[in-house]
Amino acid sequence: MAKKKPDLAELAGALVQFWSADGPQEITDVWKKRSVDSSDVVAGLRSLVASGDLSLTALAGVASLDARVGLAIEAIKVVQRFGGLKVIDGILGRKTRSAMKSFRSCNDTTKSNKAVTGAGKGMSGLGVLFFHIQPKLASRAIPTASGGSETAQFVIGNALDAWIIGGKLNLVTQFVDDPSDANVLVVQENIDGPGNTTGIAHIGGKGIEQQLTCRFDENEEWNEAMFLNTATHELGHILGLTHEPGPGHIMSAFQDLSVKHPTPRDLERMQTEWGVK
Ligand SMILES: [Zn+2]
Repeated sequence: MAKKKPDLAELAGALVQFWSADGPQEITDVWKKRSVDSSDVVAGLRSLVASGDLSLTALAGVASLDARVGLAIEAIKVVQRFGGLKVIDGILGRKTRSAMKSFRSCNDTTKSNKAVTGAGKGMSGLGVLFFHIQPKLASRAIPTASGGSETAQFVIGNALDAWIIGGKLNLVTQFVDDPSDANVLVVQENIDGPGNTTGIAHIGGKGIEQQLTCRFDENEEWNEAMFLNTATHELGHILGLTHEPGPGHIMSAFQDLSVKHPTPRDLERMQTEWGVK
């Protein structure tokens, strides 16, 4: 059976259903009927929603179908821009769908994490952050390019150092065994299977009582470059940064595995957040 081009009007309708009721199955079913392999489209659009680039609240609140389609198109254009593709009316072509696979899903809709960053500004925040890394993640072997391996905890330590030492932040971190002692929980869980979303940072709501969570997808075939890039990005959220509007940085929404460490721009933003400069 010939594959049909995804229809944006239908997609917008399905997204609204997803928001209001039964979850991703609703969307998948719509595409299945059309013999379109929807998993990458759905995953990509859900990533957009999670990253705050596509507002389902806005979608659901718009009565006119045309306006809904317009919002979906704008979101798809975001992917195309980040992916360095031609921005052509938000059409979900093959390249765009493939670009969506490396589009991150991060919960960073809160503007910044004041509970943490208050510390650097001499406010009532935290000067020390206690991290608890789930044991099965902490000891997970992450293959290195040289054919050896490092533990995930070691790589996470490097990611933290890149921000703290690189940005000269007034912050001390410590790993703790008891999760109830931790400000930040770092875990691996099933997020969405191999590919697509690799990690998510939950930076919580207001107040310093809440534990922050950094999640890695346990299904990924991690290597050091990918894990370090993902960990540095997610910890960037934990430490207060939102996405960088543009490619080529650790905090870019679009994952670029050639970026290994925070760029000068990333560090400058972090220092602004922490009041270092
Ligand atoms: Zn992110």
